[in-house]
Amino acid sequence: MRNEDLDSTRYKMEFMEAMLEDLRWFGFEWSEGPDVGGKFAPYNQSGRMVFYHAALEQLRAGNFIYPCTCTRKDIQPAARAPHAEDEEPVYPGTCRDNSKFKIKKSKFSWRFRVPDGETISFTDGNFGGQQFIAGKDFGDFIVRRNDGVPAYQLACVVDDAAMQITEVVRGADLLVSTARQILLYRALGLTPPNFFHCELMRDETGRRLAKRHDALSLRTWRTRGIAPAELRAGWGRADKSS
Ligand SMILES: [Zn+2]
Repeated sequence: MRNEDLDSTRYKMEFMEAMLEDLRWFGFEWSEGPDVGGKFAPYNQSGRMVFYHAALEQLRAGNFIYPCTCTRKDIQPAARAPHAEDEEPVYPGTCRDNSKFKIKKSKFSWRFRVPDGETISFTDGNFGGQQFIAGKDFGDFIVRRNDGVPAYQLACVVDDAAMQITEVVRGADLLVSTARQILLYRALGLTPPNFFHCELMRDETGRRLAKRHDALSLRTWRTRGIAPAELRAGWGRADKSS
């Protein structure tokens, strides 16, 4: 059980406690985690900054990353396809030639330079062969935000490698992120784990469940008196009908 608490603007201690409680209620058990310890401790990402900084230093020394001063607004295309809700726009490369020296005084993020035109392939345990073209399907991506917080892409690669994770199971919305992460594994000289992406869970209107849409949480079901076994049975049915 790894607790991804790097975003201190959103993270609160009681959220983690509630998450662990809800997951145990649902029937999950873990042999390592922030509440039980383990040989790869700490399990709170906020306690692992030294690892992320070391990885950033390695990427910087290998010239895989560059400082970027663009804001989200700078790189947002004027018109976006409606399905692109969760897709990051391909970065136009504005800051690719920046040197850290020149922008020393301003706030900047570190961005990974993708090998334009290279096809990143992997075999997904659920969806089979996957191919994404660097620079077209995804662009240069942030590995450290301009507030100093390591980005999800970097933190999860560093942790999965350090914790000797062999299989990553997650939602299909992260398929393209896997291509980004494979580039990070390669740049850091690490071996990627196996990947298995699942169909996303959707509500009755077909909209994906997400925190920002006020989706039904485990806690909501629990307070309504639903038993974990009933929830699991319902998910099984939803899976077959899709
Ligand atoms: Zn930039």
